[in-house]
Amino acid sequence: MTYPLTFYVDSLPDGFAGMANGPVIRILKSHKDDVGLYQHELEHVKQWFRTLGIHPILYFFSDTYKLWSEVRAYKKQAACYPDDRKPRFARFIATKYNLSITEADALEKLR
Ligand SMILES: [Zn+2]
Repeated sequence: MTYPLTFYVDSLPDGFAGMANGPVIRILKSHKDDVGLYQHELEHVKQWFRTLGIHPILYFFSDTYKLWSEVRAYKKQAACYPDDRKPRFARFIATKYNLSITEADALEKLR
């Protein structure tokens, strides 16, 4: 069963195929069948519930929290595919989130 607040949309900010904002998941229609992407965004929704809604504040103000949050989400995502996508996700973590981390260090955290 798909989490009920999941919406399939035509566009998202450049470079993103899925997003979670609070309890709401948005995924590009072109990625509707990407179970890993869905699990990634679902993990962020769980983080939002677990932090009683302050997840976006922690995410915005703490790079340590943001890194922890993305590493967890990408680990969930990587587990959904038969091939090893961790190197690719490590590149995303090192380049798409304004985090001071190298690709190699991000990969280390995903392993
Ligand atoms: Zn994420």
